[in-house]
Amino acid sequence: MKDISTKDISLNVREAGVVGAGGAGFPTHVKLSAQAEIVVVNAAECEPMLKTDQQLAARFPEQVVKGLTLALEATGAQKGIIALKAKYKASLTALEPYLTDKIQIAILPDIYPAGDEVITIWLTTGRRVPPGGIPLNIGVVVNNVQTLINVAKAVDGEPVTTRTLTVNGAVKNPITVTVPLGTSLREVIDLAGGGKEEDITYINGGPMMGTLITDLSFPVTKTTGGLIALPSDHMLIKRKSMSFETVLRIAKTVCEQCSFCTELCPRHMIGHELSPHLLIRAMNYKNIGDPLMLTSALTCSECGVCEAYACPVGISPLRVNRALKAELRAKGISYQGDLGNEDPMARNRLIPSSRLVERLRLHPWYQEAPLSLEIYEPDEVKLKLQQHIGAPAVPVVKLGEVVKLGQIIGEIPERSLGAKVHASINGTVVQITPQMITLRKGGAAK
Ligand code: SF4
Ligand code: SF4
Repeated sequence: MKDISTKDISLNVREAGVVGAGGAGFPTHVKLSAQAEIVVVNAAECEPMLKTDQQLAARFPEQVVKGLTLALEATGAQKGIIALKAKYKASLTALEPYLTDKIQIAILPDIYPAGDEVITIWLTTGRRVPPGGIPLNIGVVVNNVQTLINVAKAVDGEPVTTRTLTVNGAVKNPITVTVPLGTSLREVIDLAGGGKEEDITYINGGPMMGTLITDLSFPVTKTTGGLIALPSDHMLIKRKSMSFETVLRIAKTVCEQCSFCTELCPRHMIGHELSPHLLIRAMNYKNIGDPLMLTSALTCSECGVCEAYACPVGISPLRVNRALKAELRAKGISYQGDLGNEDPMARNRLIPSSRLVERLRLHPWYQEAPLSLEIYEPDEVKLKLQQHIGAPAVPVVKLGEVVKLGQIIGEIPERSLGAKVHASINGTVVQITPQMITLRKGGAAK
């Protein structure tokens, strides 16, 4: 690896528009500008049916370790931990030759949600992120596999222009593909042969945390987690389609305050105050929850364990928490509670992935989705100006301008948190809106 200063690593990563590929898209150059003790590579990929990171780590171990080494350099951390499951045998075999005194592998149990970064850190280091806090509060920086591959490419001058994602479930040829950013979701589904049945609904992300796709013309972004196809009458689709009024009505009429949702809540187990059964009670009987307890909804990871696994009567504490979070955030309220004691039985309460797949009735749709090394070439891409946390990028190209693959087309606004956007194909700018820039291969301006 070429010599590069700590400052230049962050600058290169900023220039390349790298954002957290595993979550909300926090700009990686900001993460790498902090000082940390440990860098954890989150290779847990715990959402059933997603097969991206495990295959990328198996195919490009050198890039993952290069990205990790750069992250260690940039943050001054002395230890790098690659957290993955024993069942990802190909990744383990591929990564093992690269291990050093400073870079180690931690084997995670095959549980859900091993990939929730707070839980990943707890399982690999024993450290606990305080409620409402971030990993850096306890000296840890977490990056996922695809992010680190992008970091490795960034220092070689290659910006983020593609996304690798799994298309799985009720499609003819489940596959893990790499497409230019801005490719439509419909085209990605076509790469998997399209739906296997007449009436299919698609989820953006994994079956647990993903959201229903309402428009297949939406573009792939830097954070598109994967595409899961399921028959529209599948229980997961029905649950995700339920109106909030129905969620509230069910909670009000059938919650028996058994507290299973709290006992199995991963955040509660590690000592966070978050207690979904109390939040449901507070929603059902207004004014009985103390204000601090209500703000603990802000610390919910939306992992879905409470609704999909714990609750015996089909209530969704997750949806209630999501609504509470929106209300609290709109009022500018944050959570101020402390970290409590860890549940001594926590490690025994974690949910085995196999049991989760069974409970979600995903067996008929649970398949391999092999990694294709071909990069798809679309005729048109729609590049969103906000594919990250922070301010949207500002267009720096004009209508009709011919752009080259990798050229910057959206800049970070001055003095703002954000990420640059690059052309993901060679083409012409055919449309610019406040939300996105459309490029067409060989196209002309509208
Ligand atoms: S598990 Fe369901 S029934 Fe039990 S307290 Fe939680 S929401 Fe209520
Ligand atoms: S979704 Fe449910 S189980 Fe998951 S963190 Fe939130 S309250 Fe806990």
